[in-house]
Amino acid sequence: MPIDQAKPIHPVIASPEVVHYVCKRFGLHMSKKLGQNFLIRRSVVDTIVEAADLSETDQVLEIGPGIGTLTQGLAESGAQVKAVELDKRLPDILAHTLDGYTNVDIIQGDVLKVNLPDIMGHKPFKVVANLPYYITTPIVLSLLESHLPIERMVMMVQREVAERMIAGPGSKLYGALSVAIQYYTKPEIVLDVPPKAFLPAPEVTSAVIKCILRDRPPVDVLEEKRFFRVAKAAFAQRRKTFANSMRTTGLSKEAIAAILEEAGIDGQRRGETLLLEEMAQLANVWTKYEKEEA
Ligand code: SAM
Repeated sequence: MPIDQAKPIHPVIASPEVVHYVCKRFGLHMSKKLGQNFLIRRSVVDTIVEAADLSETDQVLEIGPGIGTLTQGLAESGAQVKAVELDKRLPDILAHTLDGYTNVDIIQGDVLKVNLPDIMGHKPFKVVANLPYYITTPIVLSLLESHLPIERMVMMVQREVAERMIAGPGSKLYGALSVAIQYYTKPEIVLDVPPKAFLPAPEVTSAVIKCILRDRPPVDVLEEKRFFRVAKAAFAQRRKTFANSMRTTGLSKEAIAAILEEAGIDGQRRGETLLLEEMAQLANVWTKYEKEEA
């Protein structure tokens, strides 16, 4: 390429030297409360960007850009990046660190409160984030339940949370989060990330998880809400039998017995042994039961 047409060369932000320099230069003290652990390993940024499979026609929602370590990798893919950051101090800093990247918009706000359909222009998008760990599950569940046109989510989470997302019946980690993730997506752990890849280093190991949104759920469900009520009940009282846990739904003992019998499920089992298919079967029998009762 002729030298006068070459793009500007930016320093890699995801490095200990640059993160230290930026924090010092702008007097930024990282906030523990906001889950600020910045990536200082560019190879991790590259793996995340690769897992997101980005091209110039893609739109990306980044949650919590921080000082732009991951945002830089996303911007270099050519995709249109919308980055939502809660910390009011950061947009001005990002204007410096990401100067020259014309495909990035920074939106200051809480990702749980901003108007995502408007921000994403009512078009399909991918979610990519090194998530703030104090709020991982609410963010993930609200994205899944929003039914927005999300194509995939590539997220840095605590390793244990990633394991919960992929866990199945029989595992101690199997819970309501596993059911929600597996109902809406196909999850896969792509990388383990040690604490020293961040500044400051968190106390736990992290992992990058890739969740490809499904075109259709893996089980047929008449009423999604009821399916998730069954899932919630299944894990509500882990030491009790499932028949007992189902009482948390407000159903009478007799109704539970009738529903379990018709669904062909032994009420003496523990809720955490139920497969997605069995929860769907139960929810569908319950839906029919309610209709008959009405
Ligand atoms: N992406 C940067 C990186 O990888 O170096 C920073 C990641 S840091 C783990 C999480 C970021 O999320 C922080 O910048 C924090 O301020 C931001 N954050 C925390 N809560 C948020 C919320 N509710 N909405 C949007 N951003 C949030």
